[in-house]
Amino acid sequence: MPDRLLELEKKAMHNEDMPHGLTQSELVQLYKLYYDHTYSREQAKDIKQELIATYQNNAFWEKLFAYHASIRNRYSPVMTEAEKHGCPICKKLVRIFDGRETE
Ligand SMILES: [Zn+2]
Repeated sequence: MPDRLLELEKKAMHNEDMPHGLTQSELVQLYKLYYDHTYSREQAKDIKQELIATYQNNAFWEKLFAYHASIRNRYSPVMTEAEKHGCPICKKLVRIFDGRETE
């Protein structure tokens, strides 16, 4: 088991406050450990609530990422055309979209 998870499990077992911003996978692992170990039902309830909130937050960002990926898939071939077009405006746009120009 990773050290970080061991540390979190110990905190849970001793009913200590958990750090904020645990990742979804850390929360899932902690919640699974509840079934194998002995920290309290109340502690597991808190972990589960945090897990649900984190899951919902991640689901939102995943949806947003998928939306932007679908847009990127549509403009990507056009960026190749724009690069070949060669005028300064097209070149600047391509540099911005592919990350070469950041300011
Ligand atoms: Zn152009």
